[in-house]
Amino acid sequence: MNTDVLVVGAGPTGMTTANELLLAGVATVLADKLPRGSALSRAGGVQSRTLEVLDQRGLLEPLLAAGDHPVGAGHFAGIPLSPDFAPHRLPPRSVPQVALEGFLEYHLAAHGLRVRRDHELVALAQDEDGVTATFDNGRTVRSRYLVAADGGHSTVRSLLKAEFPGRAGTVTTVAADVRLGGADDLATHTRTADGHWVGVFPLGTDGRGRPLRRLAMGGPGRSLPRDVPVTEDEIRDGLHAVFGERVHLLELRYARRITNAARQAARYRHGRVFLAGDAAHVHLPLGAQGMNTGMQDAFNLGWKLGAAVRGWAPEDLLDSYHTERHPAGAAVLRNVQAQSLLMDWAGTCDPDVAAARELFTTMAQLPDVQRYLGDLMSGMATRYPMPDTGPHPLLGLPAPDLDLGPARLHELLRSGRGVLIDPQDTLAGAVAPWSDRVDRTGGGAPTGPMLVRPDGYICWAGTPDTLQPSLTRWFGAPDPTATPTIRPR
Ligand SMILES: Cc1cc2nc3c(=O)[nH]c(=O)nc-3n(C[C@H](O)[C@H](O)[C@H](O)COP(=O)(O)OP(=O)(O)OC[C@H]3O[C@@H](n4cnc5c(N)ncnc54)[C@H](O)[C@@H]3O)c2cc1C
Repeated sequence: MNTDVLVVGAGPTGMTTANELLLAGVATVLADKLPRGSALSRAGGVQSRTLEVLDQRGLLEPLLAAGDHPVGAGHFAGIPLSPDFAPHRLPPRSVPQVALEGFLEYHLAAHGLRVRRDHELVALAQDEDGVTATFDNGRTVRSRYLVAADGGHSTVRSLLKAEFPGRAGTVTTVAADVRLGGADDLATHTRTADGHWVGVFPLGTDGRGRPLRRLAMGGPGRSLPRDVPVTEDEIRDGLHAVFGERVHLLELRYARRITNAARQAARYRHGRVFLAGDAAHVHLPLGAQGMNTGMQDAFNLGWKLGAAVRGWAPEDLLDSYHTERHPAGAAVLRNVQAQSLLMDWAGTCDPDVAAARELFTTMAQLPDVQRYLGDLMSGMATRYPMPDTGPHPLLGLPAPDLDLGPARLHELLRSGRGVLIDPQDTLAGAVAPWSDRVDRTGGGAPTGPMLVRPDGYICWAGTPDTLQPSLTRWFGAPDPTATPTIRPR
């Protein structure tokens, strides 16, 4: 083997996966076809759950310190979501994807993992022991596992002939990064009776502190082929159709056409190859979810691959990546479908859709609906099945960032190991045979006992008799000789 894991694609998904593997102490090669990081403007928002997991890796503070990343405004189908409904939660942040990618690449390099650039994967073969990848520069890499994080047009997915069912794009809309005049109090989503619409989202500031905005616009006659360049006049015309003289374009920094294609890989695992991020699911960028979902794929997969390489992964741990993340991805595709319908993304001007939107907009003001939609969009609603444990309201959910005295739970998870919270100090003996994979913290924690996986999900919170089966299920066979591991990080 040249390496344990080859990660193809150094976008947010690939770099997050690589960071998880680094933490697990696994030899990793991260390759990308581009000569340098992409300058394309895409994601502008990082959701609460992603922020939490970045905190669980010690990356949140340095990320926020590295730039001006104000609290962002969540929305569902253009209907604003108030951050007040969940005061304990980290509110979403405006972090341009370019800035996040630069930050992650710098972080990986500082820990000795440099992206191998100018490496375009062109061929792939797997056998019982590993995967052989061939690059356009003639190099080959042999690895035990391969993670395809190579984006929506994934070469790996094509080479595998992996099923990618869904819908081809039927309409294009314009997405642009702009500076606008007269836009201070604009609603997130505005539309006219004849079907023209504009979405406006905050995108931080430029180097001179002036507000930047992400603009999306569409309407009758505005769906042009993807390769037709977007012009300033086109944007001015779209703004005028919706706002008249009130809002004007000051600067167009970047623009592209996006389609409403929606597809999801039928299987996320293909032997030793795993699809993650846009390689596994593509959809309209509504509500800031694509990059976030990809990064959550990576947080889910990374520690499991680490366990497999280090030899303690239980039999079906790697399969649980598909079992857990495929439904999460499908749920995102469904809510994007609902949003695009309510926003009349395709510009049908259907009065039935207008009536549904009006009703939904009123309902969305109800606190319970705000909470439900907020959970959905922030990634906090994702709940993984936790078989073989009794019912418990917290099982399968992200663990709250409890203050455990000397440290917060998120800080304890920075080791990349599991954490057993043992408030009564009664479980030391039970967890001892896993003490090289799971840390125990006790002493008056403000909660009942719970076991938290390295990705921050609660996998046991039941009665003591189900603790050891849960430890075995997620952390492998007990080792009577295990001694606690302290990994510096
Ligand atoms: C206008 C717009 C706005 C968006 N806004 C948001 C938002 O606010 N929030 C959000 O969460 N998401 C948003 N998204 C979606 C987000 O940009 C994507 O979901 C995200 O980029 C997916 O990350 P990824 O790492 O999976 O794939 P990518 O970012 O596409 O990275 C794939 C990488 O693989 C490399 N690669 C490709 N093929 C090969 C090969 N054969 N060999 C080697 N390397 C290869 C590429 O060079 C690239 O670096 C938006 C998208 C658009 C277009």
